Amino acid sequence: MESLIEFLDRSPSRFHAADNLRRELAGAGYEPLFEGRPWTLVPGGKYCAVRGGASLIAFRIPERGARGFMISASHSDSPTFRIKENAELAGPEGYLRLNVERYGGMLCAPWLDRPLTVAGRVLVKAGEGIETRLAYVDRDLLMIPNVAIHMNRSANDGFKYDPKCDMVPLMGLGAEKGAFRAVVAESAGCKPEDILGTDLFLCPRQKAVVWGAGNEFVSSPRLDDLQCAWGCFRGFLAAGESASVPVFALLDNEEVGSLTRQGADGTFLADVLERVCAALGVDRAAATANSFLVSADNAHAVHPNHPEYHDATHRPAMNGGVVIKHGVRYATDGVSQAVFAALCQRAGVPVQHFANRSDLPGGGTLGLISTAHVSVNTVDIGLAQLAMHSCYETAGAKDTDYLIQAMTAFYAASFREEDGRFSLNN
Ligand code: ZN
Repeated sequence: MESLIEFLDRSPSRFHAADNLRRELAGAGYEPLFEGRPWTLVPGGKYCAVRGGASLIAFRIPERGARGFMISASHSDSPTFRIKENAELAGPEGYLRLNVERYGGMLCAPWLDRPLTVAGRVLVKAGEGIETRLAYVDRDLLMIPNVAIHMNRSANDGFKYDPKCDMVPLMGLGAEKGAFRAVVAESAGCKPEDILGTDLFLCPRQKAVVWGAGNEFVSSPRLDDLQCAWGCFRGFLAAGESASVPVFALLDNEEVGSLTRQGADGTFLADVLERVCAALGVDRAAATANSFLVSADNAHAVHPNHPEYHDATHRPAMNGGVVIKHGVRYATDGVSQAVFAALCQRAGVPVQHFANRSDLPGGGTLGLISTAHVSVNTVDIGLAQLAMHSCYETAGAKDTDYLIQAMTAFYAASFREEDGRFSLNN
């Protein structure tokens, strides 16, 4: 089994992450479904659909029929910088820089003074049509240099980053016009003039590592949310059959509000569930009532240097188990909390709880957004991590296995609600 570390290193962009999972699913016998074609779904069948290149939904049809869906949703994107279409900034002084814009709410400082490159996809002319190629320039290509302390003596007194000036990556000195597109084309195996469109993003070159006195930490770019995606995916693959359809959803664009065709505020999940219901001859409303969604997106661990940012009685610890998130920006309620806690108990996985300090708004995630389209009982969970939205984040090395165990138990169960009573049988 591939490890989380390998998955992180092999997924420099959301497109790579989705593609890696798609490939593994194909190898495990999951049939690709294309949204533009009719779907024929049979008992015992395993299926996978991709929308927008970076969103993927996989599911299995139980042999004995199904009364609902057991769904997990996590996100494939992370805060980064998008490369603008006219990417090259020539000068000053013979420098070649790249014109970028912020994607999501990142911490800016960690992006400086570390080797970077670009990853994403390019759309390439292919005969009379167009084809998608993944692009990853697998070398140290870019750097965003700091200003020396001698020229900005107040740099350590709180610095306001101007994205159009301070966050511009340097690519070359004396490089020719067109150098960037040539490098991208080479990585995608095409000619520069055949590139018709791009979705390219900065990515740090630093690999994922396990570290600490007892190897208790894992650090990597994109831990939020590929750690949860990985945990849910392994649980999805490992689980035995139940009376529900297990659904694994990886969705793009959470970091910019999910309001895209392939995001949690689009119709992807709803469309897939509707087609499954139609194929099974199951009433959609009844199936929705008998369904449960785990919205898995990383949570904040208590910071070693700033424990005061956490609520007095909600202080998640790394390696302390799966975190259930509570508050107005989360979908968790008493029922969904109880259901998920019971399944974790079944799996022998510890559970901890997060709530914002009462004067802090905190962040939202895809649980509530998804619930607006697919109104199922939903719990928001995550794994405790530090430095969320840094380009190099830190989490607990043991927690991924806890999530895998919890999600294996989740996918092996079915959910049914009647008159305030809930059953979680297989
Ligand atoms: Zn996230």
